[in-house]
Amino acid sequence: MRAQQQQRRRPQQQNVKRRRSCRFCDNKEIYIDYKDEKKLQRFITEEGKIIPKRVTGTCARHQRELVAAIKRARHLALLPFVSDAIR
Ligand SMILES: [Zn+2]
Repeated sequence: MRAQQQQRRRPQQQNVKRRRSCRFCDNKEIYIDYKDEKKLQRFITEEGKIIPKRVTGTCARHQRELVAAIKRARHLALLPFVSDAIR
């Protein structure tokens, strides 16, 4: 009996950059600034959602600061709550 030949393909990780280290810890000169929407935009999707830290690799502490900054920026209309770019 031959019951082999089952090849399992693992789905490749696309779009997910593997970075272990938090970029804010790496470069301590980066300050999470709610007024800097260009920087914050890298941490939200096109829909305006905040990208989870497991994707970006940001550490918990900085992610929290980041989320606070994004929320503040949303409140000031620098960033969208929901973007209509998609759909
Ligand atoms: Zn960090």
